[in-house]
Amino acid sequence: MPSNKVVIRDVGPRDGLQNVEGTVSTADKVAMVEALAHAGVSRIEVGSFVSPKAVPAMADSPEVFAGITRMDGVRYEALVVNAAGAQRAIDAGADELCIAIAVSETFSQRNVRKTVAEALEEVAAIVAVASRTNTPCSAGVSSVFGCVFEGKIEPSAVVSLSRSLVDLGVGEIMLADTTGMAAPRDVHVVVPQVLAEIGSSATLGLHFHNTRGLAIANVMAGLSEGIRNFDTSLGGLGGCPFAPGATGNVATEEVAHLLALEGYDSGIDLNLLISAAAQIETALGATLPSQVLRAGARWRGHEAW
Ligand code: ZN
Repeated sequence: MPSNKVVIRDVGPRDGLQNVEGTVSTADKVAMVEALAHAGVSRIEVGSFVSPKAVPAMADSPEVFAGITRMDGVRYEALVVNAAGAQRAIDAGADELCIAIAVSETFSQRNVRKTVAEALEEVAAIVAVASRTNTPCSAGVSSVFGCVFEGKIEPSAVVSLSRSLVDLGVGEIMLADTTGMAAPRDVHVVVPQVLAEIGSSATLGLHFHNTRGLAIANVMAGLSEGIRNFDTSLGGLGGCPFAPGATGNVATEEVAHLLALEGYDSGIDLNLLISAAAQIETALGATLPSQVLRAGARWRGHEAW
């Protein structure tokens, strides 16, 4: 029986805010990271170490890392795309490196102008840097559940890429649905095949976007397949540059709420988390899509039942 403990990684400060340029100050980002940790989120993707020209909104990631007051037991993580970025992230204090790779050839070419094989070479270079300081690496595999350019992705391609990543020394694989194409039945098909291939040699997690309203259903499907690691984003922040109209990642407070009602232990204080979401909403000056942020927890003002 898998444990009832679920580990949430909030990717809001990076995945959520990377498309928001100029409106969120470094101080607001630091406050967001600290509020997440204070609410009990044990993994936080703080920022990215990529070209500031490519992603101007993340240019202050070193300052965000330098500005946070760290809490024990929390992993502060960073997205990197090459070996130089990996070294900068480690120097800035990243506890874990997040690597992005696509399973779709077309998505890979459009997103990073590399074939999947070339992107794997980059992963190898990043892992080599990380291994010098025993820094763990987590790979987010995008377009697993469908590609905006190629349509259906064969599960065998996901299985084979997962194997390659594990063989390179990646300790965690997050199957990502950046464009919101997954349905629960897809989760039930793909997850067992990847688990059968990688066994216990790496952790498998899931990263859903709520583009078509199915993210919570997909999280439930993942839980029933034994998955205990999920990426989420405070307030439902995020989007995808290749999917116009795409809403953000599944909201952290919606997943935390679901987990509490379903008897899982995420270690998160939902009220503190909702306050954190309200805080970043104010900083952004925009209404975020999270419904639990609007409505509060089911038992707010009532006895829990
Ligand atoms: Zn995402």
